[in-house]
Amino acid sequence: MSMKHVKNLECVQCGATYAPGQVSYTCPNHSGVSGILEVQYDYDRIRERFDEPLDGDIRSQWKYRAFLPVDDDATPVTLGEGGTELYDAPRLSEQLGVETRVKDDGRNPTGVLKDRATSVSVTKAMHASRGIVTCASTGNAAASLAGYAARAGVDCRLFVPSDAPVGKLAQPLVYGADVLAVDGSYDEAYDLSMEATEEFGWYNRNAAINPYQVEGKRTVGHEIAEQTRGDVPDWLVFSMGDGCTIHGAWKGFREFRKMGFVEQVPKMLGVQAEGAAAIHDAFHEHGSADELASTRADSIAVGRPRNTVKALRALNESSGSSVLVDDEEILRAEKLLGSTEGIYAEPAGAAPVAGVRTALREGLIEENESVVVVVTGNGLKDTESAMEASGTATEIAPNIEAVNELYGTDGD
Ligand SMILES: *Cc1c(COP(=O)(O)O)cnc(C)c1O
Ligand SMILES: [Zn+2]
Repeated sequence: MSMKHVKNLECVQCGATYAPGQVSYTCPNHSGVSGILEVQYDYDRIRERFDEPLDGDIRSQWKYRAFLPVDDDATPVTLGEGGTELYDAPRLSEQLGVETRVKDDGRNPTGVLKDRATSVSVTKAMHASRGIVTCASTGNAAASLAGYAARAGVDCRLFVPSDAPVGKLAQPLVYGADVLAVDGSYDEAYDLSMEATEEFGWYNRNAAINPYQVEGKRTVGHEIAEQTRGDVPDWLVFSMGDGCTIHGAWKGFREFRKMGFVEQVPKMLGVQAEGAAAIHDAFHEHGSADELASTRADSIAVGRPRNTVKALRALNESSGSSVLVDDEEILRAEKLLGSTEGIYAEPAGAAPVAGVRTALREGLIEENESVVVVVTGNGLKDTESAMEASGTATEIAPNIEAVNELYGTDGD
């Protein structure tokens, strides 16, 4: 076993450091799970390990294995995650009034960016011969974990709020997981999963508290850096739930600058829904009124984000910012993205597009700047929201007269 490129784990609260393997999840100096750990690397060693061409040809995130905190002799559990397209988006850019490109991470194996992290955590669980994996999830992490558990042949037990969209419950069931629909909020499902982890010793992939799994999300930053070399965007836009994704992307991008692969880094723009605004409130230093999250964008319906500290680091270190959008704006953005560029996002995946609008209006993003929005999840998972965003089909009789009636006899 060897992971010499990983230096240590540092607590974001008290700065205590631990050797890899010394602690499993969070810093023991704090009650609960607030002592989130951050993996620190030896970049000289990573440089020795990394010799891939940065030519934009990315078959999967394992191109960046040299950066990932897995043992040298571990076999990746992979379904080909990462390597997603970065699209020019001329019609969307025109509608928004700013040059915009779209990274479509909804095209990952289970339809969500989280597959990057899941692949790393299940690889580690397998390498440690752990037979049962678990997590709490608003839906996507559960489906993702279930898929990779099936791939690895390990048991999977999931805690999800019982009001998760049906598509997100169906998927892990097909993957063969035990889906435990908790009669409560995501926050309650999370607490229950932590209790079960302690009680039974299952391997926990939860956002934030598993210090290694979030490191997989850095590869979206590596990829965007590689894909935009020479034309790095001014802004990189993500939706924020627990706040892990935006931090991971920032860390990845910054690493590529540190290594000299790109000359600039973007400013990070975090987008939250009005009904789940805790990170935004912390960034702008308003007190948060209540912890109950309520938004159509279920993947970011997080009342008590587990990774506020890291998310704030990404926003502050990059001279970035955050904005809020309401559900109507999110659904309008879903329709806009689909109809202008053929990219189908779930509400949380479309929220960054709505966020760009808001940031332009607030003067945060300027019209002469450039933007990359990251679509974190695929629209097929939540067709109910999609129908709300786009209206219903036009019903017609099964004859040509009915078509004539709609389009006229010349069919235009
Ligand atoms: C989980 C998720 C997010 C939020 O990611 P965090 O790391 O929790 O901030 C955004 N969009 C989608 C589709 C997700 O599944
Ligand atoms: Zn600590």
